[in-house]
Amino acid sequence: MDFSLSEEVRMMQESVREFTERELFPLEREFCLEGRLPQPKRLELEKKGRDLGFWALDVPTEYGGAGLGQLAMCVIHEELYRSPLMFEFGGFVEPALYLTNERQKDKYFHSIVRGERKSCYAFTEPGAGSDLARVQTRAVKKGDHWIINGSKTFISHVDRADFIMVFALTNPGKGAKGLTCFLVEKNAPGLHISNPIRTMGDDWDPYTLSFEDCVVPDENVLGEVDRGFVVADEQLTHGRLKIAAYNIGIAKRCLEMAVAYSKERVTFGQPLASRQAIQWMLADSEVELMAARLLVYQAAYMADSKREIRNEAFVAKLYATEMAQRVTDRALQIFGGMGYCLEVPIQSFYRQVRVWRIGHGTSEIHRMMIARNMLRD
Ligand SMILES: Cc1cc2nc3c(=O)[nH]c(=O)nc-3n(C[C@H](O)[C@H](O)[C@H](O)COP(=O)(O)OP(=O)(O)OC[C@H]3O[C@@H](n4cnc5c(N)ncnc54)[C@H](O)[C@@H]3O)c2cc1C
Repeated sequence: MDFSLSEEVRMMQESVREFTERELFPLEREFCLEGRLPQPKRLELEKKGRDLGFWALDVPTEYGGAGLGQLAMCVIHEELYRSPLMFEFGGFVEPALYLTNERQKDKYFHSIVRGERKSCYAFTEPGAGSDLARVQTRAVKKGDHWIINGSKTFISHVDRADFIMVFALTNPGKGAKGLTCFLVEKNAPGLHISNPIRTMGDDWDPYTLSFEDCVVPDENVLGEVDRGFVVADEQLTHGRLKIAAYNIGIAKRCLEMAVAYSKERVTFGQPLASRQAIQWMLADSEVELMAARLLVYQAAYMADSKREIRNEAFVAKLYATEMAQRVTDRALQIFGGMGYCLEVPIQSFYRQVRVWRIGHGTSEIHRMMIARNMLRD
């Protein structure tokens, strides 16, 4: 078996690493102290990336993208997430939007590739997080429109988006099998957006959405009526792989920093690196990071080979997110008091990784799904 990356992917890795170190690292201190990167700065970075050809990277070439596969994308996200800025190159099309039909394509797909619009997605409700079958937001058809009532919460990036993929119940009594996905414009009549919900993560405050007789044209159904679960599955599976790759990048950077610091910092006349207690923390982190990377690359390789990766994405995200939690914690411990200071990025990573064990399905739900697959007859 050959686990090495192709020459093309290795070159891409090298250029994204250079971009991250040149453009993102210098902004880290301010980001960590302020807890956010102003939106104009984020757009400026997107533009710099675009000028270098980093745009719509995984969008197929026939749609104007660079046509990169999942393995290349994992490698790219790993490099970008070595910085806590959570920066991503633009022109990114959410996986579910590949289900847009010909009439929807220009407004909801090509517009993103052109850099004119952005999207976000809304599953979660105050009474329905892990359990999508408990979704209460209701969509009722009236002529050639749907009327949506209900609310969604913890919805990320509403501020940056122009439209939202909203999952609502169209067939009550059928639970998750009665859901439909709607493409809802942010300025749709009857849609109200809350103030941001403050969270412990830097630059990541999600929103609550209220729908009061919100009117959505029938042509804005994404996929088929009552088949929203298929749309959700497409969105979540590929999202899990991407999140797993983020966590590889985060752990890698924290470990790089911990290794460098342990060689510099002297206590009781010896560098920390000479102590077995520190070496074991570094060694455990390295082993877990390597194992997580193999899981992520394997899932990505399978996706590129057009194989089903639902279970592999659960496994990779579960392991990578829990690994990153342990690695960031050890790195912070090795830095001692310095690790707790805002100006050192480790504390930002430490808080950021916590959400990845919750969003896109919690660790418990991942274990439940993996076990369900194992126990199935
Ligand atoms: C910062 C942030 C951003 C988010 N962004 C988005 C977004 O953009 N769009 C969106 O739709 N959602 C988003 N979410 C919501 C996220 O997906 C949910 O928080 C997540 O799915 C968990 O749902 P919940 O919070 O309702 O927890 P619950 O489902 O209430 O679970 C609470 C706890 O119980 C455990 N649990 C639940 N059921 C079981 C079970 N059967 N067995 C064992 N344990 C169980 C869970 O693992 C968890 O530990 C975001 C959340 C956060 C914090």
